[in-house]
Amino acid sequence: MIAHDWFVEHRTDFVARTLEPDEERSFTEHLGGCADCRAAIARLEQELAWLPMGLAPVPPRPGLTRSLVAGALGERRGPPRWLVPFALAASLALSLGAWFWALGTTRAFERQLAQERGRLVEELAMTRDTLGIIREAGMVRHASISMGKKQGGMLIFADERTHRWNVVVYGLPASEPGEVCQFWFITDSGMVRGVEVKTDGRSPALLTLPMPPNARNVMGAALTIEPMGATGAAPAGVELAHLML
Ligand SMILES: [Zn+2]
Repeated sequence: MIAHDWFVEHRTDFVARTLEPDEERSFTEHLGGCADCRAAIARLEQELAWLPMGLAPVPPRPGLTRSLVAGALGERRGPPRWLVPFALAASLALSLGAWFWALGTTRAFERQLAQERGRLVEELAMTRDTLGIIREAGMVRHASISMGKKQGGMLIFADERTHRWNVVVYGLPASEPGEVCQFWFITDSGMVRGVEVKTDGRSPALLTLPMPPNARNVMGAALTIEPMGATGAAPAGVELAHLML
């Protein structure tokens, strides 16, 4: 004879179908004569139906199917006959809901992984590209820059194979308000505006630059301080560095 406490303690196990076969048999027998446990089990089953229990839905306990069929056939206990189709439909909807919830979560996770992978691949390609230009550089040029007490410089790695430059600008303080640090290409047809260089006085600015379009012959580079928003074809401000290849 099993003490009633055992049944109370194992109600959840019974609903989750984790009992040994002989324990499950004892529990089923006990349910026949214990209204308390029946009520508790019904409540637990209702609660668990709402929970998405991982990817694999728990198969219904054999007794549950039987009691639903018994109800449908008008036997004692179980819901009234007319309620059964609704109960079945509701239970099916709940299982489907749990499935879609789990499926949706998995898809979102997969999407997130794919995005993260794409970002890493892109970053790796950029890093390889930058390192490639430095390693393959057929020409390296350096110019020192003094700004007040600050000592910095500009370093150009020119990759003649891919016609791109890696430019490092270091040691320069952040630009004054309303001013920018501007990079220029020096070509045989004059100065060509390059990109703005973000300086912060701490870490070097690293630029990877293709040769300017329509420029036949790039001969060097310059760095100037320009008023913010200037679009002129030639530098108007103070020149910081002037470097010929
Ligand atoms: Zn009981």
